[in-house]
Amino acid sequence: MISYPIATDDLNNRIRLRHPSWHQRAEKELEQCITDGHFSERCKPIWNKLKNIFETIQSGHNGRPKCVYCESYLSKEKRSAHGHIDHFRPKSLYYHLSYNPRNYVLACTICNASYKRNHFPIEGTQNLNTMSEDELESEKPLLIHPLDPNEPNLQV
Ligand SMILES: [Zn+2]
Repeated sequence: MISYPIATDDLNNRIRLRHPSWHQRAEKELEQCITDGHFSERCKPIWNKLKNIFETIQSGHNGRPKCVYCESYLSKEKRSAHGHIDHFRPKSLYYHLSYNPRNYVLACTICNASYKRNHFPIEGTQNLNTMSEDELESEKPLLIHPLDPNEPNLQV
C-alpha cells in the first residue's frame, strides 16, 4: 500500500497557510456537533475547502493525486467528482472527529460512497465519544491509515 505520512504540525501549518481561519471555523462547527450529540445537517462540510491540500499530500512524483484506498488517479479539476475528503473514522460514528484534519484522507467516489461508507472495522471496543489520541490509539483499526506517521502497519 502506498503511504503519505505527514506529521500533524505539518498538516495544520499547510491548512493555516492556505485557509487561515479554517481551524477557528472548525471549532465552531464541532461545537454544533457536540451540542447536537451527533453529526447533523447543521454541521457544515467545511473540510471540502481542504481538498487541494490533500491533493498535494497524496500526489506522487508526477503531481497526480491518488485515492488513498484503491490508488486510482484522481482528477484535480474543480468540478470533478472523482476525489472527496473522506473521514477515515466515519463522522456518523466518531462525530467528535468530524473537524479533525488528522481524520481526513482523499478518496475516490467509488471507495468513499460505495465501499467504505460508514464502515470502520476494529478489533476490540470502539471509543466513539473521545477526541483523545491516546484513547483512539487503544483501538486496533483493521484499515490502514496511509497519512498517519505513527501507523503501526506501515512501519518496516
Ligand atoms: Zn478508490
